[in-house]
Amino acid sequence: MNMKLVIFWLRRDLRLDDNVALFHALKSGLPVMPLFIFDKEILTTLPNNDPRVGFIHQQLSRLNEQLHPFGASIMVRHGSPMDVWKQIVEEWDVEEVYTNHDYEPYAIARDQSIGKMLGESGISLRTFKDQVIFEKDEVTKDNGTPYTVFTPFKKKWLFHLKEENYKSYPSEDLLANVLKEVHRFPTLEEIGFEVSNIKVKPFSLDAMNKYEEHRNFPAKESTSYLSPHLRFGTVSVRKLIQQSLRTNETFLSELIWREFFMQILYHFPRVVNESFRKEYDNTRWINDPIQFEKWCQGKTGYPLVDAGMRELNATGYMHNRVRMVVASFLTKHLLIDWRWGEAYFAEKLLDYELSANNGNWQWAAGTGCDAAPYFRVFNPTEQLKKFDPKMAYCRKWLGNDIGKYPPIIEHTFARKRALETYKTGLAEAR
Ligand code: FAD
Repeated sequence: MNMKLVIFWLRRDLRLDDNVALFHALKSGLPVMPLFIFDKEILTTLPNNDPRVGFIHQQLSRLNEQLHPFGASIMVRHGSPMDVWKQIVEEWDVEEVYTNHDYEPYAIARDQSIGKMLGESGISLRTFKDQVIFEKDEVTKDNGTPYTVFTPFKKKWLFHLKEENYKSYPSEDLLANVLKEVHRFPTLEEIGFEVSNIKVKPFSLDAMNKYEEHRNFPAKESTSYLSPHLRFGTVSVRKLIQQSLRTNETFLSELIWREFFMQILYHFPRVVNESFRKEYDNTRWINDPIQFEKWCQGKTGYPLVDAGMRELNATGYMHNRVRMVVASFLTKHLLIDWRWGEAYFAEKLLDYELSANNGNWQWAAGTGCDAAPYFRVFNPTEQLKKFDPKMAYCRKWLGNDIGKYPPIIEHTFARKRALETYKTGLAEAR
C-alpha cells in the first residue's frame, strides 16, 4: 500500500467517543487506520470460553458497526504484538502510531519494545493519557515521592483537579478522517475462543444517587457495575468524573481509589509478587489446598462468604462488600496466602484489573499500603447480620444450600490463630 497513513492502536480503550489517542490521530491530517491485536501471549493463558475475550470481541464488532457508515473498519490481528507490528510495517506505509498509555508492567515492557522497533523503521509511537485523570507522577507528595496513603493522595488529587483535566476529546466528531478500508472481521472461533454464558452487564449511572445509602448492601444490586467498562475502556473516565463531581463525592472517591492503586502499581511494581509491607512476607501461611478449594466453590459454611464465591463463579462479578469479606476470610480465617485469592479473582473477575485486585487483596490481608491492620479480622457472621440482614443475597446465590455445609473453621479460634500467626511473622521479620 502506498498511501501514507497513521495507525490508532486500541488496547484497553474500546470506544470511539472521547478517546484521546484517537482524537489526536484523527487530527493528524493523515487517514487513520484503527488496529486491535488479540495478543497470543495473553490469550494462551486463558480458558477458551473466557468471557472477557468474548466481551472484547463483541465490543470490537460494535465499534465496527459505528465505522461502517464511513466505509471503514478496525483491522483485527491475532498474534504476538511484535510479530504483528513487524508485518504491518512491511504491508503499510505507516507515518505514526497513536495509542493510549497502559500502566501494567507487561504493557510497559511491550510498548517499550514495540516503540523501539517502530522507531528503527522511522515511525514514531505517540502515546497519550486516557484511562485516568492523573497518571504516573502527576499526584505526588511535595517532595516528589509517591503517596502510599489514600487520604492525602485524594486531597492532592482534588487540589490538582481543574476543568481541563476532565474535558472531553470529541473523537466521535472527527470520524470522517478514518481510512476508507473495510477489513475482514475474524470470528471468535477463529481466534480460538467460544461464546461464554457469562456476560458483562450494562452500567448504570443512577448508582450515583443515594450511593452511600445503598452501596454496602449486596442484595440491592445498586452499585454502578462500571468496573468492567472502566477496565476495557468502553466508557470514558472523564465523563464519569464530570458527572460524579456534579452528583456524588463518595462515588468520586471510589474513582480516586482506582487511580490510587494504579499509581501504587506504577511506582512499586514489586507488589505483583511481594507484600507492599515486606515484613508481612514472613507470615507462615497454612495454605491448605482442601480449604482453598472449599472457599473457591463457596462451601465454607459461612453464608456470606459462600454466596459471594457463588456469585463470582456464576457471573464473573462480586459485590465490593462481599469481596472484602471473602478476602479477609481466606487470608485471616484460613491463613491462605493472599496471592492465592488474588490469582483466583484474576481468573474469574470480568473487571479484573491488576492494580485494583492486587491493591485490594493486600488491603484485606493487611499487607498492603494503607491496609486494614492485621488485627482487624472481619467476623463473617456479623457482616452478614449488618449487610444482608434478611439474607436476600445469600438466598439468591445459595438457594437450598443455605445451612448445608458446616463451618470449616470456628470464628473465635480462627481469629486468635490469625492474630498469633501475623504477630509471630512480624516479630521474626524484625
Ligand atoms: P461502584 O461501587 O459502582 O464503584 C464505581 C467504580 O469505582 C468501580 O467500577 C471501580 O472502578 C472504582 N472502585 C470502587 N471501589 C474500588 C476499590 N476498592 N478499589 C479500586 N477501585 C474501586 N475492582 C476492579 O475494578 N478490579 C478488580 O480486579 C478488583 N478486585 C478487587 C478485589 C478485592 C479483594 C476487593 C475487596 C475489591 C476489588 N475491586 C476490584 C474493587 C471493587 O470491589 C470493584 O471495583 C467494585 O465492586 C466494582 O463494582 P461497581 O463498578 O458496581 O462499583
